[in-house]
Amino acid sequence: MEVNKVKSESKTTKLLKKGKWVVLLGAPGCGKGTQSEYLMSSDFKFKVISVGEILRHNKSTIVPGQIKTIGEIIGSGLLLPDEVVTGVVKIELTKMESLIGLICNQNIIFDGFPRTIGQAKALNELACEFNNSIDYVINFEIKEDVLFKRILGRYKCSNCGRIYNDYFLPTKVSGVCDQCGGQEFSRRMDDNEDSLKVRMVEYYKNTYPLIDFYKKSNTLYNVNAEEEFGQVKNCVFKILNEECK
Ligand SMILES: [Zn+2]
Repeated sequence: MEVNKVKSESKTTKLLKKGKWVVLLGAPGCGKGTQSEYLMSSDFKFKVISVGEILRHNKSTIVPGQIKTIGEIIGSGLLLPDEVVTGVVKIELTKMESLIGLICNQNIIFDGFPRTIGQAKALNELACEFNNSIDYVINFEIKEDVLFKRILGRYKCSNCGRIYNDYFLPTKVSGVCDQCGGQEFSRRMDDNEDSLKVRMVEYYKNTYPLIDFYKKSNTLYNVNAEEEFGQVKNCVFKILNEECK
């Protein structure tokens, strides 16, 4: 009985005082970007720390100890040193804290970070420094063939911007937009097979060890990302509301 009591008290404290710090894992095209956008506008009022975006804003900064800039390293497809990426996240958290006060109460999503085990360890230390911890790592699972069809089949109407997919959501009449009747369509430049293969190799090299890393710390939740947006969303909400434990 005693043990149960302690447990429930600590859970209450956690719900009242501690913001949820969340890491989203998943291959490019798994839909985690759309979900994190939704979480920002939901009652959870998540703030998103998008490392890719911050790095792009600082692309002319020289990487400490090297002669190249952040932009040059990203452009060559190489990974930035862990210290650089972690440093950027720390600056962002500090900045956020000076703007809104104690961020241990704030719900935060880390987007595009961590990418390596070194970064994951550094994030745990950072969270600790800011009096929080990474308690939710949501892994968006999707089979590779579904992912390829999702990304390679994607096209949009050049006139109204409506998104279609060759495999899952073609126009009702071939070559004519359902919404506006437009007959011109475009595809994203990086949605080609070669680029996707490079991105997938990166993903398997970096993300797989992270899944195992977080499994060991008991914070990993798997979500079937092949479902419809609404179903994936419900699943994510259940996890964040602790209905999955
Ligand atoms: Zn259209």
